[in-house]
Amino acid sequence: MPRSYVREARKRVAPKNERIRPIIERLAAEHSDAKIALRYRTELELLVSVMLSAQTTDVNVNRVTEKLFEKYRRPEDYLAVPVEELERDIHATGFFRQKTKAIRGTMQMLLEQFDGVVPRNIDELVRLPGVARKTANVVAAELGDPQGIVVDTHVRRLSQRLGLTKQEDPVKIERDLMKLVPREHWGRFPHLLIWHGRRVCIARRPLCEQCVLADLCPSSLV
Ligand code: SF4
Repeated sequence: MPRSYVREARKRVAPKNERIRPIIERLAAEHSDAKIALRYRTELELLVSVMLSAQTTDVNVNRVTEKLFEKYRRPEDYLAVPVEELERDIHATGFFRQKTKAIRGTMQMLLEQFDGVVPRNIDELVRLPGVARKTANVVAAELGDPQGIVVDTHVRRLSQRLGLTKQEDPVKIERDLMKLVPREHWGRFPHLLIWHGRRVCIARRPLCEQCVLADLCPSSLV
């Protein structure tokens, strides 16, 4: 069973709709460099990077895509090589068979239904084979049109610790956050939580004594 961080709540704080703006402002000041860690130059590279990032680290994906994107530049390129060759080229990102199948299916659909162009609409993005809501959310947000809020392991943990949601399921957490976070911050908000989660609100041992949110956080240990 997933551990519920909500149970760590102990301090009394203001309601979440009063705390959300200062939370965003303080995190934005603290992590002004917070942005996607995947390296890409085009919309297609963004989509492939995000698809490859499932179950592995962004650092690992960047290592693989550095060479990959020199070889594969257009959707056609992913379909022009034998399946085994693409599998070899992305092998180091793990789950290479499923990822190859998803990438080739996506390229096929991009060519057949989207004129080879990556769509920006979430409903269209999730129609692409192997593109789940989280991937679609990341792509849409990076392309400047966030239509939801990305919920990964850091966003889930911090939202719970900060008392912004009581949910465990990512879809329900996203729904709670979309009601709470002003729309203009939907794209940036997950990056702020992700970077705060990596640097301060670490899963095993949150550094509450160094945290700029300590007085706004019901789970603060200080
Ligand atoms: S590190 Fe900050 S956000 Fe995380 S539990 Fe402690 S006070 Fe809350």
